Amino acid sequence: MQDLIKEIIARHLGKVLINEKISNYTTYRVGGKVRAICFPKDEKDLIELLKIIKERKIKFFILGNGSNVLFSDSMYDGIIIKLDNFNKINIQDNIIEVGAGYPLVKLSRDAMRAALKGLEFASGIPGTVGGAVFMNAGAYGEDMSKIVHSVRIINSDLEIVELTNQEMQFSYRTSLLQNHLDYVCISAKLELEKGNSEEIEAIMNERREKRRATQPLTLPSAGSVFRNPQGMYAGQMIEEMGLKGFSVGKAEVSTKHANFIVNNGNAKASDIKKIIDTIKTKALNKYGVKLRVEQRLINWVGVSEKESDKDED
Ligand SMILES: Cc1cc2nc3c(=O)[nH]c(=O)nc-3n(C[C@H](O)[C@H](O)[C@H](O)COP(=O)(O)OP(=O)(O)OC[C@H]3O[C@@H](n4cnc5c(N)ncnc54)[C@H](O)[C@@H]3O)c2cc1C
Repeated sequence: MQDLIKEIIARHLGKVLINEKISNYTTYRVGGKVRAICFPKDEKDLIELLKIIKERKIKFFILGNGSNVLFSDSMYDGIIIKLDNFNKINIQDNIIEVGAGYPLVKLSRDAMRAALKGLEFASGIPGTVGGAVFMNAGAYGEDMSKIVHSVRIINSDLEIVELTNQEMQFSYRTSLLQNHLDYVCISAKLELEKGNSEEIEAIMNERREKRRATQPLTLPSAGSVFRNPQGMYAGQMIEEMGLKGFSVGKAEVSTKHANFIVNNGNAKASDIKKIIDTIKTKALNKYGVKLRVEQRLINWVGVSEKESDKDED
């Protein structure tokens, strides 16, 4: 691993930070350390970086804004790649081409200013374009699948390929990328509709107020923990089970929104995980329903990254 890190630095493949605390890069503000975080400058760097990581069979993880991940407290014995430099945007008529590292909230405001509608749902989602594509992020009945025209990715053979909306296999909080964890989204082409900036802004403002009123936005969290089971609301189930305010260490089921777990200060990732496990067990006993975690569980013993949104069994 040390040799690999030295090689990455020697080859000038972008900024490299060693032994970083993952908690500084996740909205839960939890997670152990990582051997190195790399910030490739461009697509060429990224492909070179992936090539040497893969040749040495080192594990890697593409991290967006860390707003939908729960890393364990243990050392991540691999490389985290952040695409902060993939932040270009080009708006032409109703088409936006945007880099994977571009913040979604900023993008929704750019679209509003350009009088393009379709991204209003994203104005309160604190992720990046890459993370939103991976998760098919959405709200208010809308999601990325409704606006993505195509996505440029780097595939397992380190080729750049453009996938159509259909090829991305979007469904509820899911995309093709969740079945190919070594694919990297580098940019997306979005197709929006022409609209009126003031009307779009009014919708966004109204939704922001609604979020402020119903979500614990002043405390670290990673948004909704569980996917809604068919015909049910995870938050309502958790509330009915009397788990609002349930805490382990400094982690707590939000008293404002039961499908959020908040970090009340120095919580450990294991505190959050214990709450998740408790909720799952109780939901199974009370409702006979296996709640599925929406957030990605990373670097947990016995939990495969691929299955992190499904079940740990
Ligand atoms: C307060 C709050 C409110 C939220 N509200 C919503 C909401 O309304 N709707 C909703 O859907 N989500 C919501 N979320 C969750 C989260 O913001 C979204 O899932 C978001 O899309 C995650 O983006 P990210 O960049 O933070 O991804 P990360 O959390 O960094 O990563 C998530 C997954 O995407 C993968 N990934 C990231 N970038 C790439 C890439 N370039 N290529 C390949 N894989 C990649 C990662 O490897 C990881 O598996 C909320 C979160 C918070 C904290």
